[in-house]
Amino acid sequence: ATSASKVTVTAIAGDGIGPEVMRAVQQVLAAAGAQVAWEDAVAGGEAFARGISTGAPQETLDSIARNGVALKGPLATPVGHGEKSANVTLRTVFEMYGNIRPVRELPGIRTPFSGRGIDFTVVRENVEDLYAGIEHMQTPGVAQALKLVTEAGCARITELAAALAEAEGRRKVTIATKANILKLTEGMLKRVGEKVLAGHPSLVHEHMIVDNCAHQMVIRPEQFDVVVMTNMNGDILSDLAAGLVGGLGVAPSANLGDAVAMFEAVHGSAPQIAGMGLANPTALLLSALMMLRHIGDFATARKVEHALYVTLEEGVDLTGDIAAKGRGAQTDRYVARLIANLG
Ligand code: NAD
Repeated sequence: ATSASKVTVTAIAGDGIGPEVMRAVQQVLAAAGAQVAWEDAVAGGEAFARGISTGAPQETLDSIARNGVALKGPLATPVGHGEKSANVTLRTVFEMYGNIRPVRELPGIRTPFSGRGIDFTVVRENVEDLYAGIEHMQTPGVAQALKLVTEAGCARITELAAALAEAEGRRKVTIATKANILKLTEGMLKRVGEKVLAGHPSLVHEHMIVDNCAHQMVIRPEQFDVVVMTNMNGDILSDLAAGLVGGLGVAPSANLGDAVAMFEAVHGSAPQIAGMGLANPTALLLSALMMLRHIGDFATARKVEHALYVTLEEGVDLTGDIAAKGRGAQTDRYVARLIANLG
C-alpha cells in the first residue's frame, strides 16, 4: 500500500513511562505493517511546562479534531495549583462521553480467576455524575457535591452499550445502578436505559444494584457481557474488573465521543519506573488494537493480537510486572519478542 492509503492518527506520548510504551507500540505496529501515519502531539507535563494551564495546546486539539482518532500515553496530573487535568481537558473538549474497558482473560497471565472465561466490557459514562466536579463547603465542616445526570446522557451511553454489544455479537446488557437509594439520578439510568434497551430486542437486558454487581463480578464474573454504569460507579468497578484479569499493565480503554475516539491504557505515568526501560507496553498495545479495529484495519489487529497471545503464552522476555518472579525483561527485549512472533 502507498502512504496515501494510511490513516493519520494523533499520537500523544505523554508523561513518565508514556514515551517508552508509545515507542514500543509504534515499533510493533510498524513491523506488522499497520497503515497508520502518526501525527505527534503534546499534552500533559510538557504543555504545563510551557505555561498552558489546560494541559493541551491548541495544536494538539486541532490535530485530534482533524484526525478524529488518537492514541494517548498517560498524562501526569500536576500537583501545582491552577492547572487542570489534561485528561479532563481532552475528555470535555471532545465530549468523549463513553469510556469503554474490555475485560478479557489473557493467555499466560495467571490470576486467581484464570480459566473462568472472563470476557465482558464495562461501558462507563464519562462526563456527567459527580465528576462534573461541582462541590463546595455549605458551612465550615459541611461539604456538598452535585451529582448531575441527564436523560440525554443516560440515553446516549446506553445506546453506545447496545451498539457495542451488537457489534461484538454479545447477548446481554446489564445496567448497574444505585437506583434503590438515589431514585432520581441513578434511577434515571435505570429508567432511560431500560427504555433504550427495549428498542434492541436482539439483546437481553437486566438491572442489577451496583453493590451486588461488585459482589457478582468477584463471585461469578463470567456471567457478564456488557455492563453500563454512571461515571463514579463505572470508575470503581472497571478498576475492579481490570484486577480480575491481570491488572494495570494489561488493561486497555477507549474514550468515545460523537466525532472523536481516543485510545489509552488505563494505567498512569508510573513515575517510579519512568526512563528505566521496565514499563510494560501491553496495555497500550491492546488499546492500539482497539484503535486499529476502530479505523477498520482488522487484519493488522488480528496479526498483532496473535503475536501478543503467543508471546504471553510462551512467557519468555515478559516485563517484570507480569513475568515469573526474578525473570523480568526490559521493554525492548519484550518488543523484540513480540515482533519475532508476528511471523
Ligand atoms: P500508575 O498507574 O502510574 O502506577 C500504579 C502502579 O502500577 C505503580 O507501581 C506503577 O509502577 C505500576 N505500573 C503502571 N503502569 C505500568 C506499566 N505499564 N508497566 C509496569 N508497571 C506499571 O498510578 P499512579 O502512581 O497513581 O499515578 C501516577 C501519575 O499518573 C499521576 O500523576 C496520575 O494522575 C497519572 N494518571 C494518569 C492516567 C491517564 O493519563 N489516563 C491514569 C491514571 C493516573
